[in-house]
Amino acid sequence: MPNPPEPLRGLGVSPGLAAGPVLPMGRPPELPPPPATTDPSHELATAVKALQAVRADLAERASNAPTKAARDVLEAQAAIATDPMLESDLAVRTERGEDAVHALHGTFDEYRRVLLDAGAHLAERATDLADIAQRAIAVALGEPMPGVPAPGHPFILIADDLAPADTATLDPGTVLALVTERGGPTSHTAILARSLGLPAVVGCAGLLNAAASANAASANAASANAASANAASANLAAATVDGTTGEVRIGVGEDEAAAFRRRGADMKARLANASRLPGSTADGHRVDLMVNIGSAADLAGVDLTGVAGVGLFRTEFLFLERRTEPAFDEQVSAYREVFDAVGDRTVTVRTLDAGADKPLPFLGLADEPNPALGVRGFRTARRRPEVLDTQLKAIAAAAASTSATVRVMAPMISTPTEAADFAERAARHGLADAGVMVEVPAAALRASALLQVAGFLSIGTNDLSQYTLAVDRQSGDLPDLLDPWQPALLDLIAMCTRAGRDAGKSVSVCGEAAADPLLAPVLVGLGVTRLSMSARSLPAVREALSTHDLAECEHLAERALAASDAAQARGPGGLVDVNSRRGG
Ligand code: PEP
Ligand code: MG
Repeated sequence: MPNPPEPLRGLGVSPGLAAGPVLPMGRPPELPPPPATTDPSHELATAVKALQAVRADLAERASNAPTKAARDVLEAQAAIATDPMLESDLAVRTERGEDAVHALHGTFDEYRRVLLDAGAHLAERATDLADIAQRAIAVALGEPMPGVPAPGHPFILIADDLAPADTATLDPGTVLALVTERGGPTSHTAILARSLGLPAVVGCAGLLNAAASANAASANAASANAASANAASANLAAATVDGTTGEVRIGVGEDEAAAFRRRGADMKARLANASRLPGSTADGHRVDLMVNIGSAADLAGVDLTGVAGVGLFRTEFLFLERRTEPAFDEQVSAYREVFDAVGDRTVTVRTLDAGADKPLPFLGLADEPNPALGVRGFRTARRRPEVLDTQLKAIAAAAASTSATVRVMAPMISTPTEAADFAERAARHGLADAGVMVEVPAAALRASALLQVAGFLSIGTNDLSQYTLAVDRQSGDLPDLLDPWQPALLDLIAMCTRAGRDAGKSVSVCGEAAADPLLAPVLVGLGVTRLSMSARSLPAVREALSTHDLAECEHLAERALAASDAAQARGPGGLVDVNSRRGG
């Protein structure tokens, strides 16, 4: 009997249990040294054939894409691969003596540099070009194309990290779970997994090596066993993934995998059938559960029974990709659509949060060396106050004709003066309930002063982590520092809740931390009154709260605050342990 595999531990960022064969993302091809001599017409034909194969693959994947967003990404990539300039540039290079592989690499690299030099928005397209180049080079080398594999059976996708272009076409019907070696709680992988309802673990050190050895051992065993040689998945090691605790076991036996799958199915069924009562702890302490949205489309098909409303309406998503400011009437109808969808519930509209990770070209902001520390969020009103005023006017106009309770909040508030400025502007437009987001440590440190002028606080833990621990929220290299269990982050949250209690005003968390079913009871123990998250995360958080009474939540919060780092705050002796003692 072989020893059970040592578990790997990362950050559980999307709850759920999955078991199945592990498959890595196809790796980008390595560029071989250039050959001494070439036959230009043969090299050109090889390069062009590779491009055609990539085009055909993209077109086919576009026509089978699981979502419209996925189809749009693939069609945009196919259009790039069809540009006739590519073939003439390839001809010039092969004529100069480059082989197919280097001609493809050089041509795409030149285009990529032009886009990167063009700055923010076009620079994002550079990733698409790099992706197409790698695919074409792989074909020219006779290797499988990099990207999400399509083995013809369900599998757990593992990768160093995942970028939007990698995952746009990911089919949640075939991918059982996502596990990455890098990436943090606000990484693309985490957000994507939660939106698709897939279990996910990020920041899982040692993942790729462990999977490679386990897959090699499985392939050896399968080749020695004629009976399993026909099964497509027999060459792959099986793994279990717990998207809540972050535990990943690679190389488990079939019995263990089957038992894990049964537990996962039971958990899913329990959550699907869980009560739709308003959120509360086991002893009835009320916690408002709310949803985060980017537009009315995010509410389609969402059951709002027992949900207090929208805790974060990210309005900038309506305006991404826009070159001109959206007209007043257009804004009114977009807001009204959301207000009408929630009945008489509350909608918390966040005013434009432009800049840094959310560039909005129509604002015409100057490029900055450190955009995350620059003119972003509420600060953009220093340059373009009329944009904020138009938005507040449009929100007020839309609110006038609905039964929803509309409140507004400003992102990236740093001082009580900014908070007062925002509240005054909102009041001028008839919006009496104006709160502010706590996303920078300065705001948490002055929470009491903020609440003298603001109606409520909503803590954006994604940004608050980035600014407190001094780690770029988009970086995949320091996941432990971005972990929302960091005691320093919890300290700042506690400062806000103390201020909220003193002022008798609500303090919510609307960053990704609110969606962690292990952390949610800790946040409630710290005094958070509202939790807002993607709709898919609600059932697990609702259940987590209902299984802990308030005293237990407070005890867990004290423990977490006393820890030296995020790993210690999570357990042992914390909720992970409490839940496993309960068999959860
Ligand atoms: C946050 O920073 O936690 C937040 C909710 O805002 P966003 O993720 O949109 O920056
Ligand atoms: Mg933010």
